[in-house]
Amino acid sequence: MTRPTEPVVRRTVRRSAAISGKTLLTGQPVTVSLHPAESGSGIIFRHSPTGTDIPATLDYVADVPQCTSLQAEGVRIDFVEHLLAALAAGGVTDALVEVDGSEVPLLDGSAAPYEALVREAEALPLTEAVEPISLPESVKIEGEGKVIIALPGNPEFWYLLDHEHPLIGRQAAIYRPLRDDFRSQVAPARTFATEEEARALIAARGLEGADESMAIVAYADRLSAPEPFPNSFAMHKVIDMLGDLCLIGRPLHATVIAYRTGHADNRALARAIRTEAT
Ligand SMILES: [Zn+2]
Repeated sequence: MTRPTEPVVRRTVRRSAAISGKTLLTGQPVTVSLHPAESGSGIIFRHSPTGTDIPATLDYVADVPQCTSLQAEGVRIDFVEHLLAALAAGGVTDALVEVDGSEVPLLDGSAAPYEALVREAEALPLTEAVEPISLPESVKIEGEGKVIIALPGNPEFWYLLDHEHPLIGRQAAIYRPLRDDFRSQVAPARTFATEEEARALIAARGLEGADESMAIVAYADRLSAPEPFPNSFAMHKVIDMLGDLCLIGRPLHATVIAYRTGHADNRALARAIRTEAT
């Protein structure tokens, strides 16, 4: 049974809260601070060195394949997705996110530190509501050997992983916001990469701050750290989906099922849904 889509109360945060880490690009420290915002403002990133405000919507997404980045006026902020996922899971629709550098720190590569940050700032219900997006029919993005589809239905996020690395392999994960606990069942899932992927990314982008604390690296014969739970690689892909779909700018009341897809596919789906819904 699909529940009828009811307006969702907008939420900001009750108080400011901050977290610091090091950047992947240089290893320099960077601080992210969450602040309350006016009802209807949406999630806005502020690059504090330049004072540039960048709304977290599809209109400001930079086409970076390995992460989700927002850009405006020549300023770019990378790796916004895990924080956006935590904000979405916490029901926060309106907040100012101040970043004193050009990336949101990966920290341990999971959404757990950002879930804790949102909890510390505490979601504060506002008087206004937002109409969630519900789909009249399915929306699908297909690529070579991969697919992501959004179906009319309750909010559910499914990911089927089928990775060629034997230590990553096949996994399935599902997050049902109406039933499941984001904090314990989803947020601890860490970013992962094969050794080859990690080396290629570090070389291509000159990442001086990268180390194994930020992700689980799959070497030929071992993982750099054990998985936090058995299907955590697929669940991490769910985190990325949640964060990327947040860029639609309204809560999504749909069942999303993905197979082997990544950030670029999530963004394509978000764009298709926005077109469908307006
Ligand atoms: Zn991720």
